[in-house]
Order: sequence, then structure tokens, then C-alpha cells
Amino acid sequence: MSDLSSELLWKISESCSWSSLVALNATNRRFRRLIQEFICRRVKTFLVDFLPVDAVVTLFGLLRIHEGVIIGPIVRCIMSVHTTIYRRINPRQLDIILPSSSAWSSLQELLMSNGYLVDHTGRVDSRLSVGYKTFKKFLLFDGSRVVCILSTRTQATLRGLLMSQLSSQLFALSPTRIYCFYPELFAREEFVVLRNDCHLMRGIPFEEFNFGLTGIGQASVPDMKCGESCPVLWRKASSAGGVEVVRWGGINGLWDGGMHVTPRDPFFIEGGPFMWRRADMIGCGNKFCVNVGRTMKLDSSY
Ligand SMILES: [Zn+2]
Repeated sequence: MSDLSSELLWKISESCSWSSLVALNATNRRFRRLIQEFICRRVKTFLVDFLPVDAVVTLFGLLRIHEGVIIGPIVRCIMSVHTTIYRRINPRQLDIILPSSSAWSSLQELLMSNGYLVDHTGRVDSRLSVGYKTFKKFLLFDGSRVVCILSTRTQATLRGLLMSQLSSQLFALSPTRIYCFYPELFAREEFVVLRNDCHLMRGIPFEEFNFGLTGIGQASVPDMKCGESCPVLWRKASSAGGVEVVRWGGINGLWDGGMHVTPRDPFFIEGGPFMWRRADMIGCGNKFCVNVGRTMKLDSSY
């Protein structure tokens, strides 16, 4: 396969699933460069919906300095390489997490110089306050796009993401890496509810976008084992576990030196390791699952 021309490899990449791309990315340096370029183009394609391309490059520079990450459904759409539907129907909101100590001003300046206005500033609901402190929403002048900057309580941005209501929100894009917290569900184009208290909260700041996905949960027990979505399992956020981490080289293709990636990975390292679990069910009722009937929370290497 290494004898194939780059054009042909590019064509093959375009018809691959995300998991095939991840596998190719780990094969050799040539494939890695190609796949990283492929992902970089996808990142640009989706983010130019929100900002001009030069501002997207600046955005990643700022995220790198402030150790921020883009999160949520927009990242899932970038990763949904095997389906073309997301070219037409995309999330209208871009969510960004910044660590508490980071200055908002440079990001705010970038947004406002590209047509955004401050729409709303507020504190998050107390139920989310373990992870987040405040948020600021920016609305594009024509009302067609929203960018929400979420500020976490500590340096640990991951703690904020783990407050999410749905597994379809547990995706993140840092300046050098893409994270998927439910790779099995993502591959099957499904999502589960992780917490069921969000309807009690007013003005949830982050985006909910499940277009193209099937929800599985209390009402529809799956006809297969639960796997990573079993409600009695604690998940562990570690690159050695079931969280899928893919290096994509950065917006200029220069932030992945092969053996070492700079900068380090503050998203996973800072304050970790983190554990989380579904909080919408107290036990597993799936007869196909080895944990059926259990209510105890099990440690898991998923
Ligand atoms: Zn189960």
C-alpha cells in the first residue's frame, strides 16, 4: 500500500471511516502525514463556518497559549468522515473551554473583530459548577452562529467537559489532538444520556446536536452488551484506556514532531486522572450485559 500515489491514498482516505483513519495514522510516517493533512482540512472546513480561515489559525494559536480546547458536537462532525450529511446540517454553536486562569480578552478580541457581539454572560447552573464557573456567549452579527466560551473552575478543562449531559457532547479538539470519549458509540452512530437533571437547568450554555445519531437509554435497552456505555461502570479518562486520542498535527501541520508532540497534553494531565460514569440510571438492566442486575459501580479499564 505504501507504493500507492498520494492522490490515490487521498481518495481512499475520503471513503474511510474514522476508525480506519486512526489505524492508518498509526501505520507509518507517510500515512500519518497524509491523515493529519486530511483531518486538518476537515477542521478548517467546519470552523470556517464560524470564522475566516486566517482567524481559525489565530484561534488555534490562542488555544495553544491558553491551553483551551474546542468541545462538543462540532468535533464529532469533523470526525464523521464517512458521512456527507454534515456538510449541509452542522451545529450552529461552537463551544470552547478555557482554564480559569486564562485571559478571555484575546479570544474576545478575535471574535469581535470578526463580526461577533457579546450576547450573554453568566454563571453556570450550580449543578455544573464542579466543572465550570462562568460562560460568555457571542452571537454573529446576523444571528446565524454562536460561539460560547466556558471558563472552568480550575486549570483542569477536562473536568468541565465531563459535566456534559450527553455522550454526543464528549468530543474535544485541542491544538494537537482529537479526543473521543465513547468510541464504540461513535462508531455505531449512537449516543446515551449521561445525566438527567439538565432539564431542570435554565440556559444550558453548551451545544446539543444529535443529528444523524440514534439515542439509546432507559426506554430502549440495546440488543447487545452495553460495553463502554454500561451505567454501572466508572470510565477513566486516560489515553491508555477507552478514550480515543488522535494526534492531528495542528492547524499548520507543524505541531507533531513524530516521537514527541509539543505542547504537552494539559487536557489529560492537569489534575487527573479523572473518572466519570452515567448518572441517569442506578443499575444495568440489559440482559445481554455481564453486569445485568448490578447496581454497584465498577471500576473499568474502558
Ligand atoms: Zn450493562
